[in-house]
Amino acid sequence: MVKNKIRPKRKIIRRTCTGCGKVKEKKEMLRIVRTQDGDIKYDLIGKISGRGAYVCYDIGCVESAFKKKSVSKTLKKDVSKNLKDDIINIISKGEEKI
Ligand SMILES: [Zn+2]
Repeated sequence: MVKNKIRPKRKIIRRTCTGCGKVKEKKEMLRIVRTQDGDIKYDLIGKISGRGAYVCYDIGCVESAFKKKSVSKTLKKDVSKNLKDDIINIISKGEEKI
C-alpha cells in the first residue's frame, strides 16, 4: 500500500449547477446571489454575502436554470428575466471574471 503524503492544501469548493446539475469547481461557475436586502444579482467575484445559486458559464445552463425555475427555488425568490438577460450578455461577451 502506498501512502500518499502529498495533499493539496487548498480545499476545492464544488457547487452544483442549477441548470445542468453537474458539480463543478466554484470558481468555474457564475453565482447568483440573493442579498440580505432581498435583491437578486449576479456575483462575478463570489464575495457578495447572501444565499447563492450557481450556474455554469454556459448560456444553455442559464436558460435551463431559469426555465426550470431552479434559480428561484434555490434563492426562494422570483428572479426577473432581466437578470437572465444580463447573465447571458455577460457570458456571450466572455467576461468571466472581473
Ligand atoms: Zn451547467
